[in-house]
Amino acid sequence: MTSISDTLPHRTQPLARVNLMGLSRAQMEQFFLDLGEKKFRAQQVLKWIHHAGVTRIEEMSNLGKLLREKLLEVAEVRPPEIASQQDSSDGTRKWGIRVDGGGLVEMVLIPAGNRATLCVSSQVGCSLDCTFCSTGKQGFQRDLSAAEIIGQLWLAIKSYDAFQSGKGRVVTNVVMMGMGEPLLNFENVVAAMDLMLEDLAYGLSKRRVTLSTSGVVPAIDRLAKISEVSLAVSLHAPNDELRNQLVPINRKYPIAMLLESCRNYMAAQSDKNRVVTVEYTLIAGINDQCDHARELVDLLRDFPCKINLIPFNPFPQSNYRRPSGNAVSRFWQVLVDAGYIVTVRSTRGDDIDAACGQLVGQVVDRTGRSGRYRAANDAQIITTG
Ligand code: SAH
Ligand code: SF4
Repeated sequence: MTSISDTLPHRTQPLARVNLMGLSRAQMEQFFLDLGEKKFRAQQVLKWIHHAGVTRIEEMSNLGKLLREKLLEVAEVRPPEIASQQDSSDGTRKWGIRVDGGGLVEMVLIPAGNRATLCVSSQVGCSLDCTFCSTGKQGFQRDLSAAEIIGQLWLAIKSYDAFQSGKGRVVTNVVMMGMGEPLLNFENVVAAMDLMLEDLAYGLSKRRVTLSTSGVVPAIDRLAKISEVSLAVSLHAPNDELRNQLVPINRKYPIAMLLESCRNYMAAQSDKNRVVTVEYTLIAGINDQCDHARELVDLLRDFPCKINLIPFNPFPQSNYRRPSGNAVSRFWQVLVDAGYIVTVRSTRGDDIDAACGQLVGQVVDRTGRSGRYRAANDAQIITTG
């Protein structure tokens, strides 16, 4: 006689449990409603995970025994794992984060005065191929899940043992400027940023969470409708001809389109005094001349922005060079004389390779790009060596 279990499809793997770590408030509420539970359970669980730093469902004492047992069957709270940790002499800390499927991403915490900024990754590698970026050279493996993105903030706080410890905030600002293009992983990044702003989770102000993009215009337009985080745009060139070379996505979404989309993003914000941060990586002899600065002045006239200059950070597979301090000052001066607010990003964590563009992790490249770069690099070493 055939039993009912014989007629069921053979299950080789247990059903995946929902990782509650990455659910935004709205998603968590829906999760509990779907379970036949009350919405307020979401608030309790959010607080356990993101205020108290608790991952063991058994310890969530105010849920009641029956609900805890039910949850243990269908859910889990699982942050990614820390694979390595390095501390710089200037206080910068860099972690290697192990994610499902064997990849490794990097995350950096940069203390400065009474602020501490966490630089978070959104993808394992990057599918875009900006010529000056080591992440781009590694190719692309996959998007990070929302749990893996918010899990980085969770891990940083845990690593200082600062959940409900009265130690104050160890992370005051978050920038989506680690590995990957956040707007190409839209849903997961938005869910993670929602948790960063959510009072039941991290409660950061919208001004202190910044998304940096190389210019995925349709996604900026989409973001404008649902998010209030600060926007940073990686411009790096004052005209399309040069930007096409440095930031290939410019061929699809040229500068005029990008600036228009940023304007619309700002116009959609309730607070009209906010501005876009324009990031400009200065590369010696490529985009760092006074003429480039003057062209930039003209381009950004009437555009509500501040400008952040980033002297190029070298890495092994690149022939680009960092400009001299004088060249950076001259460029800066042209912009300041024209009335712009301009900051120069100081290089932090030099001794542990923690600066912008130096985050590499480990990418199981699915694009073949990393192999091509290695081959080109080897050929160059042979011809020049
Ligand atoms: N993909 C997003 C965010 C990650 S890159 C973006 O491109 O905006 C974060 C910032 O570091 C970007 O402004 C990027 O252009 C810059 N960057 C990348 N490589 C760099 C390098 N080698 N030196 C200096 N800045 C770099
Ligand atoms: Fe990707 Fe940003 Fe690097 Fe460009 S600069 S390759 S978009 S991570």
